[in-house]
Amino acid sequence: MQSQKQFKRRFSFEFFPPKTPEGQTKLQGVRDELARRKPDFFSVTYGAGGSTQERTINTVLNFQDQGIATAPHLSCVGSTKQTITELLDLYKENGVSRIVALRGDLPSGMGGDAGELKYANELVSFIREHSGDYFNLEVAAYPEFHPQAASAEADLINFKKKVDAGANSAITQYFFNADSYFYFIDRVEAMGINIPIVPGIMPITNYSNLVRFSDMCGAEVPRWIKKQLEAYGDDSDSIAKFGEEVVTRMCEKLIDAGVPGIHFYTMNQSVPTLKIWDNLGLSDKEKITF
Ligand code: FAD
Repeated sequence: MQSQKQFKRRFSFEFFPPKTPEGQTKLQGVRDELARRKPDFFSVTYGAGGSTQERTINTVLNFQDQGIATAPHLSCVGSTKQTITELLDLYKENGVSRIVALRGDLPSGMGGDAGELKYANELVSFIREHSGDYFNLEVAAYPEFHPQAASAEADLINFKKKVDAGANSAITQYFFNADSYFYFIDRVEAMGINIPIVPGIMPITNYSNLVRFSDMCGAEVPRWIKKQLEAYGDDSDSIAKFGEEVVTRMCEKLIDAGVPGIHFYTMNQSVPTLKIWDNLGLSDKEKITF
């Protein structure tokens, strides 16, 4: 963890672009509430090959208009260099300075055409070729390894390719086991990687969604958490309270160890994230020292 302590801590909140006008109105409220915590930036997810793309762009530009630094996620799978170029230019014209650069996943049923850029390292190289050093580029990191990785070793080598291509920093897939993050950092440090790798934190608010989503993205929900959530059944208050305690405790461990910030997967809800935020005393984050 030594290398991570040198970096200035930064805090960010992730949203997905709402599908409906009601969702949009709700997100504005959530965004305003979270903006009061003065995060370093917001980010907005992007669906590979599909209808969410326009919504991502609109959400990002709307947030930027409100004076809130916002990083669009941008995935390359199923896309073309032309489309990506147009997006990069649009974002630059609108003052966007940070991008979360991803491969993405093609929705099932879209066929297997990966497009012109097959992996995130190719996207990072392409952005650097097109826009030079203008954008601050974030990439994804997987402490519990990416589900399609040929091996743990191969995944680390592939992570390094993104860093060598010009990524400035990384945000991790969420995890509930801090040791997986610490081990990942030790491994990448040993490979000479020296960029901030910020833990992505998922508040726990629901049992079935969490388990289904975690299975898909290769994040492990430890058995003791699963069993406890299962036992609460429909008692959403107990799930929320338990989730808050578990995730707060893990964040405390990460902060004590010297992580370079936290990225919250808000799922467009303010309360679960804010409870953790407040428990950690992050409104006074300047005062948190190693
Ligand atoms: P890559 O880094 O390209 O890796 C994908 C797989 O290919 C890995 O198994 C890797 O080991 C392997 N690989 C990588 N490079 C090579 C290479 N050169 N040769 C051979 N194999 C290689 N998804 C969305 O659709 N929209 C989002 O907005 C979104 N946001 C995310 C934000 C974060 C912080 C994270 C952690 C994930 C996000 N995802 C999002 C999910 C992500 O798109 C998926 O996990 C996707 O499967 C991989 O994307 P990646 O950029 O990590 O891919």
